[in-house]
Amino acid sequence: MKTIGLLGGMSWESSALYYRILNEAVKEHLGGLHSARCVMLSVDFAEIERLQMAGEWERAGTLLAEEARRIEAAGAELLLLCTNTMHKLAPQIEESINIPFLHIADATGVAIRREGLRTVGLLGTRFTMEEDFYADRLRKRWNLEVFIPKPANRQIVHQIIYEELVLGIVREESRREYLRIIDDLRRRGAEGIIEGCTEIGMLIGPEHTDVPLFDTTRIHALAAVEAALSE
Ligand code: GLU
Repeated sequence: MKTIGLLGGMSWESSALYYRILNEAVKEHLGGLHSARCVMLSVDFAEIERLQMAGEWERAGTLLAEEARRIEAAGAELLLLCTNTMHKLAPQIEESINIPFLHIADATGVAIRREGLRTVGLLGTRFTMEEDFYADRLRKRWNLEVFIPKPANRQIVHQIIYEELVLGIVREESRREYLRIIDDLRRRGAEGIIEGCTEIGMLIGPEHTDVPLFDTTRIHALAAVEAALSE
């Protein structure tokens, strides 16, 4: 089994989910007392969020690239960056290491194609929804049609992530808002919804809607287990 590296803390709420999913999946595959070999470096999210809001992406990239090198030095044989948003800096991080980097949008693209869907709605931070690094990758590499919510709804989705979900706060009222926005995307033609922020699965699960959900946390972690257990 390969050692999985996790660059986490963005937020730790979702990193905790990654840790659980990795271990449960390895246990399911190998049985008995087996668990995932992994090394996690968890950053202080307050520092990352400050850089995001200040638009200091260069500085954030340098910082995360340094942390990625530390994870490699600690013995990781592949790397997961446990956030969709910071994949904006994936090229810089990938360049700084010599181990494979499992891009969260690629793992998600594979999962969507596996289900035979072509048109999806994307929920995430405004960086993930509005910039090219994520949706464009899904369009170009995975030939998907990607819709994002309307501007006012994007603001709501973004705000609930930063003011509630990354703090572990799950509110019924916010769930209703997300479900309303998901319905809107569905009416516009989305056959499935990408939970393109690693905390959204805490708010919306398959028990809340019958639209197919693509929980990027779960998809990303399971792709890592598949890679770690392959020869
Ligand atoms: N975990 C989130 C994501 O998947 C948001 C936190 C962040 O800005 O990294 O995008």
